[in-house]
Amino acid sequence: MSPDTLERLRSTIRDVPDFPQPGILFKDITPVLADAVLLRQAIEGMAAAFADQKVDKVVGIDARGFIFGALMAARLGAGFVPVRKKGKLPWRTRGLDYTLEYGSNSVEMHEDALAPGEKVVLADDLLATGGTAGAAVRLIQESGADLLGSAFFIELGFLDGRSKLAGSGPVHALLTF
Ligand code: AMP
Repeated sequence: MSPDTLERLRSTIRDVPDFPQPGILFKDITPVLADAVLLRQAIEGMAAAFADQKVDKVVGIDARGFIFGALMAARLGAGFVPVRKKGKLPWRTRGLDYTLEYGSNSVEMHEDALAPGEKVVLADDLLATGGTAGAAVRLIQESGADLLGSAFFIELGFLDGRSKLAGSGPVHALLTF
């Protein structure tokens, strides 16, 4: 991806101070989603890291990870699996509790969403402390699927979330702040 494109993506993300609570600088990606060209470039950039591999499923994390993950899945010729906040999935689930940059949370995945040996990529909009992605990694690994790696649109490098993803394959981020 060209430095120009990366710079356009970077400068289109809107910083919202003190959301959802004081001290958090929220990276608002909706201006990127609203731009037809930038949306496509963001998805292509995230998918590129896995384009030469056979991917069976992309797992996306509630809620902005659904957008990036499902579009990546379509691009990679893979299916999409949601990891959702507790209580939202209708079928039998397995779940995990974890801590977030601003609070704690619990995520679930349908217990039959991934089959052992399936090739899986994890996707989310943003890697902060890595708590959310780390929980999703454990859910994927418990299912017996083969996690190829993960793709984030944004990584907050100063929070070192990728240290929580050690041993789960390469961690790709399009933009690092
Ligand atoms: P974490 O578990 O700390 O890595 O947090 C990652 C999740 O929280 C992602 O799904 C993000 O959507 C969201 N998130 C955390 N921090 C921010 C932030 N500063 N700006 C936007 N989203 C964030």
